[in-house]
Amino acid sequence: MFTPTVEFIRSLFNTTEFIPLHEPRFVGNEKKYLNACIDSTFVSSVGAFVTAFEENIAAYTGAAHAIATVNGTSALHISLLLADVKAGDEVITQPLTFVATCNAISYCNATPVFVDVDRDTMGLSPEALQHFLQTHCEVENFTCKNRTTGKIIKACVPMHTFGHPCRIDAIKALCDAYHITVVEDAAESLGSYRNGKHTGTFGTLGTFSFNGNKIITSGGGGCIVTDDDTLAKKAKHLTTTAKVPHQWEYAHDEIGYNYRMPNLNAALLVAQLEQLEMFLDKKRELSAAYQNFFAAHEIAFVSEPPQSQSNYWLNAVILDDRAQRDRFLEATNAAGVMTRPIWRLMNTLTMFQEAQCGRLENAQWLEERVVNIPSSVRL
Ligand SMILES: *Cc1c(COP(=O)(O)O)cnc(C)c1O
Repeated sequence: MFTPTVEFIRSLFNTTEFIPLHEPRFVGNEKKYLNACIDSTFVSSVGAFVTAFEENIAAYTGAAHAIATVNGTSALHISLLLADVKAGDEVITQPLTFVATCNAISYCNATPVFVDVDRDTMGLSPEALQHFLQTHCEVENFTCKNRTTGKIIKACVPMHTFGHPCRIDAIKALCDAYHITVVEDAAESLGSYRNGKHTGTFGTLGTFSFNGNKIITSGGGGCIVTDDDTLAKKAKHLTTTAKVPHQWEYAHDEIGYNYRMPNLNAALLVAQLEQLEMFLDKKRELSAAYQNFFAAHEIAFVSEPPQSQSNYWLNAVILDDRAQRDRFLEATNAAGVMTRPIWRLMNTLTMFQEAQCGRLENAQWLEERVVNIPSSVRL
C-alpha cells in the first residue's frame, strides 16, 4: 500500500541503501577550522571560535546576545534558572515535545504543567493557554498563582515543533499579561521565522540545540539568546562555573555549572553556520517535492503554518489514524526507509504522570498520526 511512497523517497535520495531520518552534512570549512583549532591548542572551554560563533548566531537571529553552551538541554536549564524558576514552582509547556524540555524544568526542581497544542503548528496553542490561565490562575503581587495547585507559575516554554513556528507572538502577549516569563525552546527552529522575526527572539530568553540530528551541528552543543544585557551576563557567568573574572584568582560567587561549549565544537559550528542558507534552500526544495507527491497520493503533509517561514528541519506526514500510522511505519522501515512516530506525550511518561494537564485533544490527535520522514539535505 505504501510502495509508491517508498519508491518516491528512494528516488529523492537516489540510493538503494538504508535511508536515515536526518544525516549531518559537512561540505564547507569544517576540517579547515577544526585543524586551525587544534593548531591553536585552544580546544577546550575558551577560544576564538566560541566568540566568533556567539557573534555570528546573534547577528543571524537578530538577538542582542548569544551564549554558547554544551548542549540544548543545558541552555534550557540555565534559561529557566534565569527566569527565576525555583524549587516548587511550575512551568507551563506543551505535552508534545522532546523530553529535554521537561527534563530541564525538573533540573530546577519545578514541575511542568501541560497545555494543548494547535493542530497546524503542533506547538503551544494560545487559545488553550488562555483558557488554562483564565480557569486556573490569578495574578497576585506581580506573580501568577495557580489556584488549583497553590503554586506559582514562573515560566512558559513553547516549542517550535520540527521547525514550524508556533503562534509565539500571541503566547508572549498572554504570558506578559500574567507575569509569566517566556523561555522559547527553539532547539529545532534555527532558520524559522514568525512574521519575519526569528524564532527564539520573542521570549525573554530563547534556546537552540546543535545536536547531531539538528539543522546544523557541533556534534553536541547549544546556545541561549536574549536581548537583555543583564541576563546575558548572568548566563555567561552561570555556564562558566560562576567564576569571578580575575587574571589568576580562582573565586566563584555562587554554584555555577560547567556548561561551556568547547572551542573544538564551536569550530565545527562556525563552519556549519556558513552553510545554513544553503541547507535551508535544499530543505525547502525537498519539502516542496514531498508536498507535491503527498497531495497526489492523499496523504496529509505538514507544511509551514500561516504568517511563518519554516526551516523544514524534519518533514512529517499525518496519517488517518493509529492503525494506518502503524502500517506506514512498518512498511517504510521494513523497506530500509527510516521513519519515526512523533514523541509520546510527556504527560504519559512515568516521571510526569502527576503533572497538571489542560485538555490535550490536539496533542493526543497528533500523537496517534504524525510520522517523520527522511529529511537530510540532499547534495
Ligand atoms: C534537541 C532538542 C533539545 C535539546 O537538545 P540537546 O542539545 O540534545 O540537549 C531540546 N528541546 C527540543 C525540542 C529538542 O528537539
